[in-house]
Amino acid sequence: MAEQKDNAVVVIGLGRFGTALALELVEREVEVLGIDSNPRIVQGLAGSLTHVVAADSTELEVLQQLGVDEFRRAVVGIGTDMEASILTTSLLTDLGVPDIWAKAINRQHARILHRIGAHHVVQPEHDTGKRVAHLVTGRMLDYIEFEDGFALVKTAAPTWAEGRSLAESQIRSRYGVTVVCVKRRGEDFTYATADTVINPDDLLIVAGKSGKAERFANLT
Ligand code: ADP
Repeated sequence: MAEQKDNAVVVIGLGRFGTALALELVEREVEVLGIDSNPRIVQGLAGSLTHVVAADSTELEVLQQLGVDEFRRAVVGIGTDMEASILTTSLLTDLGVPDIWAKAINRQHARILHRIGAHHVVQPEHDTGKRVAHLVTGRMLDYIEFEDGFALVKTAAPTWAEGRSLAESQIRSRYGVTVVCVKRRGEDFTYATADTVINPDDLLIVAGKSGKAERFANLT
């Protein structure tokens, strides 16, 4: 195998998910090889990605010719065509790509992708649906949950904490959460310390067990 491309990603399947991901990588100055079987999609992205090719990713020879085995990272953005998604992912495993990300459209699909060697499986609609459920019912402005039930929450500062420092309001001992960052109106987020005083209209980033972080965010 040739020397692996470290700062490059091959993105296979340039639907809504794959295209958004590929364009974001380019924005972050990562070299991207985009592959999609639909020539219209490929034409539309020519000039926006580093390289973009119309090809069927379920053919081993095609992937070899495109040098996919030289990449350290690959993302399979094919979802709807589950057979193509599974075949492509297993070929990437056979080619020894060390870091394979794949998109699944349901739980069974996700399980198969894990089984055949995908290192990371995402379910964008399922994951976003879960996240939005936390946002629509309360005062949280953003919510990220990690595997072990730990969450980061963005929320407006509760009015009862205004005018007091974090040490004075004893948020950690009373609510079991840590205020990580505070943002004053018109300013950037800054790291919070025990002396940080909460002002009206401040935004907070709070870390803690998801139930506790959510409960804290819903206090007014
Ligand atoms: P999204 O919901 O993100 O739009 P889709 O699953 O609908 O995702 O889109 C997947 C993309 O993958 C489509 O653009 C489709 O042309 C492409 N695709 C499907 N099968 C193959 C294949 N065998 N080889 C390469 N690209 C493929």
